[in-house]
Amino acid sequence: MRCYRPVDVKVGVLALQGNVSEHIDAFRLALSRMGEDASSKVFEVRHPADLVGCNALAIPGGESTTISRLIEKNHLYEPIRIFSGGIFATCAGMVLMATHVDDTRVHTLGLIDMTVDRNAFGRQRESFEADLLIKGLDGGPFHAIFIRAPVATSVGASVKVLSQMNQGIVAAESGKHMVFSFHPELCGDTRLHERFLKTLRSRQ
Ligand code: GLN
Repeated sequence: MRCYRPVDVKVGVLALQGNVSEHIDAFRLALSRMGEDASSKVFEVRHPADLVGCNALAIPGGESTTISRLIEKNHLYEPIRIFSGGIFATCAGMVLMATHVDDTRVHTLGLIDMTVDRNAFGRQRESFEADLLIKGLDGGPFHAIFIRAPVATSVGASVKVLSQMNQGIVAAESGKHMVFSFHPELCGDTRLHERFLKTLRSRQ
């Protein structure tokens, strides 16, 4: 039997646009697989006050130009920039976490020292799935779903690359933050969510 110490987390999911409910469900599933009562621990974040008490934040995939605009509109840019918890960001979320991106319409948060190519794999119809090896992840390859996915084309020394394809870096970790080009919230495999939560707890 697997035995975990309780994960004392409150997870906020940025709920402005994109895969919000999928992230909420994935975090709840991850917590319950870790033996936790998930219902009281995952919340939507729409306004700065919603971040109070959160020690984890998910930034979902969707459309980075739109999410960027809504972050500013809802006065969340600075509160997220100074958020002291860990951030789990997927696809458009990964674009927003970067220091540099190839599109001036995206006002990135600059929380991970990396340059991102927003649509490195092309358009929606070029979406694909692939089994990826992810550094430090037990249990074999991760079945990753890529939808208009970005890549990181370069990263600073503070960033640990977790997985890479020919086009560039598709998974990375920096301090308490994790970013993915693909959509771990869509495949029912919660190993990455669990790893993020365990890492956060070990740092608390
Ligand atoms: N490449 C898209 C963007 O920059 C993200 C796509 C996605 O989140 N599925 O917005």
